[in-house]
Amino acid sequence: MRKNKMSSKINKITIALVGNPNSGKTTIFNKITGERQHVGNYAGVTVEKKDGYCEHKGVNIHVVDLPGTYSLTAFSLEELVARNFIIDEKPDVIVDILDASNIERNLYLATQLMELNVPLVLALNMSDTAKLRGIEFDLKLLSDLLGSPIVTTIGHKGKGINELLDAVISVAEDENRAPGIQMNLGRDIEKHINKIQGLIEREQKLTEKCSPRWLAIKLLENDKEIHQENWPDDIIQATEKAVRRIEEVLGDSPEIIIADKRYGIISGACQEAVRLTVEARHTYSDKIDEVLTNRILGLPIFFIMMYIVFQLTFAFGEIPMGWIENGFAFLGDSISYLWPNGSDSLLLSLLVDGIIGGVGGVIVFVPNIFLLFMAIAILEDTGYMARAAFNMDRLMHKIGLHGKSFIPMLVGFGCSVPAIMATRTLENRRDRLITMMIVPLMSCGARLPIYTLIIPAFFPQVWQAPILWLIYLIGIMVAIGVAKLLRIAVFKGESSAFVMELPPYRIPTLKGVMVHVWERTWLYLRKAGTVILAISIVMWALSTFPQKTVYDHDYDAITEQSTNDYLSAIRGLNPLLDISPQSTVLVDALHAEYNMIEEQQAFHPFETGFEMAEQKKNKTIDRLVQSEEGKKLAVFLEMIEQISVVRNNFDASIEQNELETGTTKYLLFDQEKDHTLEAIEKSNPVIYQAAVKYIDDIKSPYDEKMSEINQLIHSEQMTYSIAGRIGKGIEPVLKPLGFDWKIGTALIGAFAAKEVFVAQLGIVYSLGETDAKSDALRQKLQKDFTPLAAFCIMIFCLISAPCMATIATTRQESGSWKWAMLQLGGLTLIAYILTLVIYQSGLLFGIGI
Ligand code: GDP
Ligand code: MG
Repeated sequence: MRKNKMSSKINKITIALVGNPNSGKTTIFNKITGERQHVGNYAGVTVEKKDGYCEHKGVNIHVVDLPGTYSLTAFSLEELVARNFIIDEKPDVIVDILDASNIERNLYLATQLMELNVPLVLALNMSDTAKLRGIEFDLKLLSDLLGSPIVTTIGHKGKGINELLDAVISVAEDENRAPGIQMNLGRDIEKHINKIQGLIEREQKLTEKCSPRWLAIKLLENDKEIHQENWPDDIIQATEKAVRRIEEVLGDSPEIIIADKRYGIISGACQEAVRLTVEARHTYSDKIDEVLTNRILGLPIFFIMMYIVFQLTFAFGEIPMGWIENGFAFLGDSISYLWPNGSDSLLLSLLVDGIIGGVGGVIVFVPNIFLLFMAIAILEDTGYMARAAFNMDRLMHKIGLHGKSFIPMLVGFGCSVPAIMATRTLENRRDRLITMMIVPLMSCGARLPIYTLIIPAFFPQVWQAPILWLIYLIGIMVAIGVAKLLRIAVFKGESSAFVMELPPYRIPTLKGVMVHVWERTWLYLRKAGTVILAISIVMWALSTFPQKTVYDHDYDAITEQSTNDYLSAIRGLNPLLDISPQSTVLVDALHAEYNMIEEQQAFHPFETGFEMAEQKKNKTIDRLVQSEEGKKLAVFLEMIEQISVVRNNFDASIEQNELETGTTKYLLFDQEKDHTLEAIEKSNPVIYQAAVKYIDDIKSPYDEKMSEINQLIHSEQMTYSIAGRIGKGIEPVLKPLGFDWKIGTALIGAFAAKEVFVAQLGIVYSLGETDAKSDALRQKLQKDFTPLAAFCIMIFCLISAPCMATIATTRQESGSWKWAMLQLGGLTLIAYILTLVIYQSGLLFGIGI
C-alpha cells in the first residue's frame, strides 16, 4: 500500500504483538519465532513477558508478545504493561492480532493504537472461522478506512505469516509514514481536547513520549496513570471543568462518551467494509439501523424526516413569530410617537425604516432558526444524523465526496459560516475544499425569510410546502453538480476512504440539545445585532440619499386635479338621489370628510388635533343635514357606512380563515354578505344604488389614484438614490431573468447578508417596516411579478453570491482568497445561468406566467 521512495535498508527491528485474549496472538508468535523464544517477566510485575527472534528477508526481527488486552486504559495491570511497553520502548511496528470473527469488538483496541499514532499492522486472524460464519471483508476499503495495512492470517495453519512479515517490514522501512487517521471524537469532546491540548503543548517535559492530544484524551478519560503525572494546576482545572461540562451536556462521563465514539467509528467502518452474509445481527442499534440505513428505505426515510422537520419548524414557529412581530411594531410606533405624525425627520426614518425595519425583519426568524436547530440537534444527539450521513454516503461516493461532507452540508441549512468551519472534520484537503465550495448551496436559515415572503404571495396553500421543499432540493442537486464539476475540473484523483462513525442510538439530554441550539441561535442573533445592524444603516442611507427635491412630475397639481375630478363626480350623483343639480350638500359633506382625513394626518390618534378634526367634520355634517335635502344626505352617508362595514367584515373573515375564492366556505360567507346587503338595499333601493355607485365608481378609483401618486413619488426618490442607481445599472443584466431594478437593489443587500433582502425590498417599495410576513409587500410583489419570476428570484437568491460573512469564512478556512473568489464568482455565474434557463423556458412553455 504505502511505497517508500528510497528503500532504506534496515536490518534490525522490534515488533510487538498485541490483541484481545484468545485472538491467536501466542499462536502467531510461535509461528513467527519458531523455537527461538525467551519467557520472563516484565520488570517489577508478575506479568509474563515472552520475546523471540526471527529473520525475514534479511531483517532481524525482535518479536515481543504483549499481554492480551481488550483496551489500553489503565484499569488492569495487563493493559498498563502493554501500553507502557508501547510508549516507553517504542517498538518499530505494532502488530494487532484481530479475531476476524469478532471484528467490531477486536477493533476497539485498534482504535486506541490509532490514537497513540504508532506504526500499525493489522492481522485479520481466524479468517477461516470468519469465512465459515459468512463474514466477508472488503480488505482494501477497510485498510483505507483504518489507515493501516491489513493482512489475513490463519494462525494455527501458518497461513499469511509471510505476508504479515512483509507488511511489517514495509511499514518499518517507510520513513515518511503518513500520520495515521485521526479519529474525530465529535464537536463537544474535540472542543475540550483542543483546549487541554493547547495547555499541555507548553509542557515540554511531559510531551516527550506521547502526543499532547493523546495526553489530553487520557486526562479527560480520567486515566489513573496519566493523572499521576505532575500536571500544573491550570491543566488540572481545565480538565475538571471540561469533565463537568461534558457530563452536564452529554449526560455521561467523558470515558463513556469517548468509548461510544470509538465504537461508533468502528461500527461505521464495518458497515462500509464488512458484510454479514449469514449471521443475524443482534444489538438494538443494529436492529434500528437495519431500517434506518436500509438500502431502499434509508433515503426516503431521511427525506421524510427532513420534510417533517421543516413543517414543524414553520407550524410551531408561527406563534412566537407573531409576538416578535407585534413587539417590533409596538417599538416602531412608540418611537414614531416621539415625532409629530407624518414627520419626514431623517432620524425617525433611520430608526424606524432603517434599524427597526432591518434588524426586526431578521430577528423575527429567530423562532424558526431555534426550532430548526433544535430538530437538527435532536437528530444529531440521538445518533440519527450519523445514519443520515451514512445513507448519503452511497450517493456521495458517486460524486467523489463522502458522507462525512454531508454533515457540514447539513449544518449549512442553518448557516454557511459554522458549516464551513465544520469542514474541519474532513481530513482530506480536496474533500474539504469541495465541501466548502458547495456548502452555500445548502439553503441557509437567512434565505428562509425570502422564501416565506415570496411563496405565500405567489403559490396556493397546497403548493407552498412542496415549493419550499423543491427549492432546498434544487440547492442540493446543484451542489452535487458543482462537486462533480470541481472533482473533474479542479481535483483529479481517487476519492479517499473514510470512516463514517455510527454511534449507538442515545436519548439526547435536554442540556445537550439546548447548548447546541443556543450556540447557533446566538450566532444568528449576533449577526443580526452587528453585521445586519450596520448593513441596515448603510442600506437605508443608500436608499435615502441623495434626496430628491424636484420631481419629474408635478404631483401637487396631479393630486389637485384628481381631487377636483372626484368632487365633480360626486355632484353627478345628485340626480340619482333626486337632489337638485345645483345643490352642494353631497360635495360639501364628502369634502368635509376628505378634509378631516387630511388634517388628521398631522396627528397621532391620541392627540387632541386628531379629535378636533373629527369634531369639525361632524359639525359640518350636522349643519348640512339640517338643510332641505339633508334627510337624503343622512341616509346616503349612513348607507355608505353600513355597506362598508358589511364588506370589511366579509374581507376580514375571509382573511382570518384563509379561505380561497370559490371554496364552499367562501361561498357561504359570500351568501351571508349578499343577504345582509339585500336587507340594506330594501330599506331604500334608490339611495342604496347611489351609495354603491359612490363606493365602487368614485371613491375606490380615487383612493387608488392617490396611492399610485404616493408610490410614484417614492419610486422617483428610490430611483434617484444610490441604491436605485446601482439597481438600475444592473437591470439590463437582470432583465432576462425576469427581475427588475427593485430586485437588483435588494440583491445588493442580499450580498451583504441574505436576510437583508427582505428588509431592502421593503425599503425599495417604500413600505417602512417590513418583514417576510408583510402582506403589503406581498401585494406589491404580486403586482410586479409572475409566479415564474418569483420562483426565479428564490432560485437566484439560493445559488448566487453567498453573503460576505461566508466569503470571509471561506477565505479564512481555505487559507486563500482564490477559493473565496471562486466561490463568489462561480456560484453567481451558475445562479445566473440556471435562473436564465428556468425563466426563459418557463416563458417558452407558458408555465407560471
Ligand atoms: P492468545 O490468547 O491470543 O494468545 O490466543 P492463542 O494463540 O492461545 O489461541 C487461542 C486459540 O485459537 C488456540 O486454540 C489456537 O489454536 C486458535 N487459533 C489461533 N489462530 C487461529 C486461526 O486463525 N483460526 C482458528 N480457527 N483458530 C485459531
Ligand atoms: Mg496467549
